[in-house]
Amino acid sequence: MHAIQVKKHGGAEALEYVEIETPKPKSGEALVRLESIGVNFIDVYHRTGLYKLPVPFIPGSEGAGVVEEVGPDVTVVKKGDRVAYAMVRGACAEYAIVAAEMLVPIPDGVDFKTAAAAMLQGMTAHYLAVSTYPLDRGNAALVHAAAGGVGGLLVQIAKMRGARVFATVSNDQKAKIAKEAGADDIINYKEQDFEAEVMRLTDGKGVNVVYDSVGVTTFDKSLNCVGRRGLLALFGQSSGPVPPFDPSRLAKNGTYLTRPSLGHYIADRQELLWRAGEVFSWIRSGKLRVRIDRELPMRDAAEAHRLLEGRKTIGKLLLKPKA
Ligand code: NDP
Repeated sequence: MHAIQVKKHGGAEALEYVEIETPKPKSGEALVRLESIGVNFIDVYHRTGLYKLPVPFIPGSEGAGVVEEVGPDVTVVKKGDRVAYAMVRGACAEYAIVAAEMLVPIPDGVDFKTAAAAMLQGMTAHYLAVSTYPLDRGNAALVHAAAGGVGGLLVQIAKMRGARVFATVSNDQKAKIAKEAGADDIINYKEQDFEAEVMRLTDGKGVNVVYDSVGVTTFDKSLNCVGRRGLLALFGQSSGPVPPFDPSRLAKNGTYLTRPSLGHYIADRQELLWRAGEVFSWIRSGKLRVRIDRELPMRDAAEAHRLLEGRKTIGKLLLKPKA
């Protein structure tokens, strides 16, 4: 089969298109023939080595396809099932071995591309708005990179739950997308001081929760935007990791700080099926719109990484295993 491999951590050029043997599923595993592969920022961290994986490895943490074969003892899926998954390495390939327990059935009416686009970023947006800080009517939330993959979905889910949403973006095109997603107030954080804007718009009160995926360039001001006893959910670092900081800074407003990962919120199969099931049901009913930026052939994975790192995408980036 064809796959993308990283033999040495580095820039986008570290993503090599290779031909390797198709793997066989062992006990508890399934072999999935991939129809669509989701590209996520975590793939960049794996490639650069910010998140350490032993080399060589096949990157990619999300995909949708058809079960080709199952190993012994697998009962939750069978050959021919349409399935999707997230948070399992090795998706940048024509076939992937996945622990059967991580596979979610794709409901009728949802195509492979949408399923691949919805799993990782959709469940992330879901856990942030539903579980990490369960938003309610009257709450105010600040969402950074609001036209991004997670951001665009998070704005929509926050609005579904009745919150007022402040959204940051870096240009006018992204501002339009964030508005369409339902954000109430859009702030271009390249041109405006987002802390000053949030404080002005909330009469100095700040927001209940800041969802910060940008990291080093936004963290300090994000912290200052959190209102009394509010939460800063730092869930990524697209601009770089946040350096160590003094916890006494949380004392000003009794602020809570969390650094969550999707893995904590799909802790068992029941939680995974519930979370993915809600995301899929919102997609089917039209409540949640998944915006696909573009789909590239898998062999162009390096170009996909350059676009994502270069802030050139709006919504989801996909790879097609068979060009
Ligand atoms: P996005 O589609 O959001 O792309 C990243 C966006 O971040 C860019 O489009 C850009 O939007 C913004 N950004 C701001 N500064 C920079 C910079 N210096 N370099 C690159 N981008 C920048 O990606 P994802 O939705 O895939 O992921 C968003 C973040 O969420 C990542 O940090 C990722 O690791 C994290 N994440 C965390 C999860 C978790 O469970 N903890 C799960 C999923 C994702 P703009 O131009 O508008 O500023």
